Amino acid sequence: MDLPLPDTLATWREAPRVRAFNDRPVRASGDYVLCWLQQALRARDNPVIDAAIRLGNALGLPVLVYHGLREDYPFASDRLHRFILGGSRDVALGCARRGLACVQYVDRAAKREKGLVYRLAVQAAAVVLEDQPAFVAQWQAERVAAKAQCAVFAVNAACVVPPAALEQGVKTTSAFRRRHERMREDWYVWVEEEPTVAPYAGLLPYEPDRWGKATDADLDAVVAECAIDHALPPSAMFPPTRDEVLRRLARLTAEVLPAYAAARNDASRSEGASALSPYMHFGLVGPREIVAAVNAADAPADSRAKFIDELLSWREWFHYRARGMRVPESFERTPEWARRTLDAHAADPRPDVEPLAALVHGETRDETWNACQRQYLIDGWMHNNLRMYWVKALIRMTPDPRTGWATACYLNDRLSLDGRDPSTYGNLGWGFGEAAPGYRNLPIYGTVATRTDRSIRERPGGPEWLRNAAARPGPRLRVPEAPPADPYLTGRLPI
Ligand SMILES: Cc1cc2nc3c(=O)[nH]c(=O)nc-3n(C[C@H](O)[C@H](O)[C@H](O)COP(=O)(O)OP(=O)(O)OC[C@H]3O[C@@H](n4cnc5c(N)ncnc54)[C@H](O)[C@@H]3O)c2cc1C
Repeated sequence: MDLPLPDTLATWREAPRVRAFNDRPVRASGDYVLCWLQQALRARDNPVIDAAIRLGNALGLPVLVYHGLREDYPFASDRLHRFILGGSRDVALGCARRGLACVQYVDRAAKREKGLVYRLAVQAAAVVLEDQPAFVAQWQAERVAAKAQCAVFAVNAACVVPPAALEQGVKTTSAFRRRHERMREDWYVWVEEEPTVAPYAGLLPYEPDRWGKATDADLDAVVAECAIDHALPPSAMFPPTRDEVLRRLARLTAEVLPAYAAARNDASRSEGASALSPYMHFGLVGPREIVAAVNAADAPADSRAKFIDELLSWREWFHYRARGMRVPESFERTPEWARRTLDAHAADPRPDVEPLAALVHGETRDETWNACQRQYLIDGWMHNNLRMYWVKALIRMTPDPRTGWATACYLNDRLSLDGRDPSTYGNLGWGFGEAAPGYRNLPIYGTVATRTDRSIRERPGGPEWLRNAAARPGPRLRVPEAPPADPYLTGRLPI
């Protein structure tokens, strides 16, 4: 049942982004509106912050922006922690520029705080948080909504067109694309809310971290203090800063877009892709800002259209789909026919099965697959065209379909900066049959379509590129005997 929104949110032009997440009242006695950022780590073009400002202005209360980082989320590592903290630092700087108080927290032995969101919510008139349809952000938001004594509102910050604004129950990508295309231009424009109340400077239930003035060395040092996986280093390819986002947007318009339609599928061409997905997953940039850059670019229409289709039709389709699923991370999301055909072939001989450690480190008997996997292992990102071969091959390299799915989630989510996303599970679903069945009934795959590495290998310079890519030295990681199965795929963490 849809709960009513307060007038100030219900009359907002962005209202379809917002839903009441519990039935508690907005408390007029609160000290602030708490804006809890989990993944949308940007201070501008952020509907979560703007909804909080709107509510705060109506109540005559300031907004308190909070971002916390725990040690115990699945796959916590230097790679993920450092990227998130880089984003958090820019949130603090951006909030200061907008006249908003921002407090932060990193969970570590020297500074242990329990239940901070709840404790901050005790003083709040209302909590505004993110409406994320997958993984930790979703589980945590649901817990807070259930436990908080004040109103909790969830706001979609990930999409240009909020999924709730679209007709519900759309079943195919083409039907979704048609509807999305009709609406998207209405959502390109963004009118920022201005705070009318001075930044919150009152009491807090803890001594906050404040990363706005932290140097890179400060952030490295705090990451080193955390009890997380230190064997997986930060990615040199993805510096987590606003400056880097701006650099990439400039590169997108100058180098990537002009060639995108032709070069997108060639992993050996660095200008073939924007490499923006980690920044979007952690919200260092919102899709609207990217669309604005694309629309202003002097690039061929087919390239622009192709890029916009990936960014808006495909990405937002997966967000839309995940919103309609209880557990978008689960193998059960795949179509019934695909599970049936894969299960029917589960006992087929699998000569290509590899140990999990060989998969993690890209040390299998398949050179192409190793070249793909080393991008995840070393860069924390993989080129789209390689991901397609990677996921299809995993089906034959693992003992059965469910282990294959769990392994794909594990490798993607542990190593890739853009993992743990609705696009992760949507695209893995594609690999496991969330598309039309193939024509042939093959061993292991049944009627799920397969993919060879021919198009990668047969490009000019392909064999040499693959040889080099598969030989890149990567970190040595501790690897469990088997990938985690459902505890994390359906897990619920404490906050
Ligand atoms: C097996 C598999 C796993 C994947 N896992 C992820 C994942 O964990 N996280 C993730 O964000 N994407 C994932 N993708 C989608 C896609 O590969 C990446 O979004 C893309 O490679 C990111 O690189 P880029 O930013 O250079 O993309 P570009 O080609 O520059 O595209 C621009 C943006 O469009 C969006 N986009 C492009 N292709 C897709 C797509 N197929 N689906 C959804 N959005 C798309 C992304 O947000 C991307 O940043 C996966 C694809 C496959 C086949």
